[in-house]
Amino acid sequence: MKRIDERVNERRTVAQKTISSVNPATGETLAEIPISSPQEVRRTVARARAAFGPWAARSFRERGGIVLRARQYIIDHLDEIVSVIYRETGKPKTEALAADVMPVLDLMTYYARMTEKWLRPERIHLGKYALMGRSSYVAYKPLGVIGIISPWNFPFTIPMGEIVMALMAGNTVVLKPSEYTPLTGLAIGEIFTRAGLPEGALNVVPGDGTTGAALCEAGVNKILFTGSVATGRQVMMAAARHLTPVVLELGGKDPMIVCRDADIDVAASAAVWGAFSNAGQICASVERCYVDEAIAEEFIARVVEKTRQLSQGTPERLDTDIGALTNERQLRIVEEQVREAVARGATVLCGGRRHRQLNGLYFQPTVLIGVDHTFSIMREETFGPVLPIMTFKTEEEAIRLANDTPYGLTASVWTRDIRRGKKLAAQLEAGTVMINECAYTHALPQTPWGGVKQSGIGRTHSRWGLNELVTIEHIHVNRWTGVKDFWWFGYSQQLYHLLVEIAGKLTSPSWLDKLKALPALLRGRRLKKY
Ligand code: NAD
Repeated sequence: MKRIDERVNERRTVAQKTISSVNPATGETLAEIPISSPQEVRRTVARARAAFGPWAARSFRERGGIVLRARQYIIDHLDEIVSVIYRETGKPKTEALAADVMPVLDLMTYYARMTEKWLRPERIHLGKYALMGRSSYVAYKPLGVIGIISPWNFPFTIPMGEIVMALMAGNTVVLKPSEYTPLTGLAIGEIFTRAGLPEGALNVVPGDGTTGAALCEAGVNKILFTGSVATGRQVMMAAARHLTPVVLELGGKDPMIVCRDADIDVAASAAVWGAFSNAGQICASVERCYVDEAIAEEFIARVVEKTRQLSQGTPERLDTDIGALTNERQLRIVEEQVREAVARGATVLCGGRRHRQLNGLYFQPTVLIGVDHTFSIMREETFGPVLPIMTFKTEEEAIRLANDTPYGLTASVWTRDIRRGKKLAAQLEAGTVMINECAYTHALPQTPWGGVKQSGIGRTHSRWGLNELVTIEHIHVNRWTGVKDFWWFGYSQQLYHLLVEIAGKLTSPSWLDKLKALPALLRGRRLKKY
């Protein structure tokens, strides 16, 4: 069978504007993909809207069946899908499988099974109103068309998780994949088509920022955006014009705090993996490390030793730990931050420059010391394989340094004393704090993902993420069909005095007090004139 890049290249018409899918490890152009114009985006949203009613009418079981068929399709075409991802991103093939595809397989089973349980109508306890024949419940209803705009660093797992959750909740979807990874976006569309998803329920509009901007203007019912803070701000401004709700999953500058009682070797391995996996292009990468000065020397020595052992190479080699960065723009940011740090007196303990022997977009894994919070490498998102390390004297200082950032995505604390870990976690400003773990909880479909401060608004994954994809309809029922309420019209002096008499009793937390209001309430019924 032909690969997806070959199929795309065949379909392209010459006249359209295109984006190039390029293999960053080799510079090879994989495909030229037509950019979806604003008109096409509007037509696509209309198609998704037409598909919404019939899709929302399907049972959870039917929707789950299609998601599980899509999952089976992925398993049956694992190598082909992994290859599209690693060729477009430059990440090691092993990481494309372990960090992009496997979490999706897990997530698909999870939501195919759990969504119905979480979106069942839920009863609300009404207290005293229940004694008046009233009951209430909320029904969860899909929103309509969800616009998903995604980045290039995890071009499969990020949109797939959101798509699966949106579809399971009964919505239809328009996906705008990153301009750097359009083939992966198209592969996602193909997976669901092959799984028998009805036409229009999932639509992929490849393109650049103009396509994303058009999607924000096209009247979708919610936008799930993952990307940089700067673009997130633009998305929110565009959404505000239409009062479209947004979930924003933005950048991070995630701190790692290593306490003096941590297992030094484990923490050093974690720092190396947390900072350098996916070549550091993870929103939740360890971007700043703070180590207790009592263990700093040994910790830093081990981090450097482990970093030197990493093998950087071409993504398809199965022993490659670190591949290429995905695009030149990102590589330049990394180079500039390291250059500035060195110019201001930082010490490079290893790495520090582009790889000399490899021709693609490779930057060596880099460990820096001698930095402080006036350096951009400690303040701005690096999104590359650089680990700056500082020391601290007290836990208070560690917390202060960790929170000294406009971001708040994840943070990690390393200690053998779990109580200490929880105490520190409670003081950290982040959407997720991991104790003796780092970077990985996006892979857990059960747990909420999202940030505080400038790292974002709203959540994805977990039942809280699912709540972002539905609206609640409150249904209130009165079974006393023959009785007029005492608060309806027919106001009078007697009614006013009666309300004064029961105001405290009826609203008291004590059931005895409430009962004492009953005679007056019954009298009140007789006061109704119309
Ligand atoms: P980006 O903001 O440049 O682009 C993200 C997406 O937005 C792309 O699809 C792009 O085409 C689109 N876009 C660009 N301009 C737009 C506009 N005006 N309106 C609508 N859409 C527009 O981000 P990126 O470089 O692709 O991704 C890297 C960033 O994403 C990093 O900051 C990283 O931390 C963040 N990120 C966050 C998470 C998270 O879960 N919090 C996950 C992954 C990446």
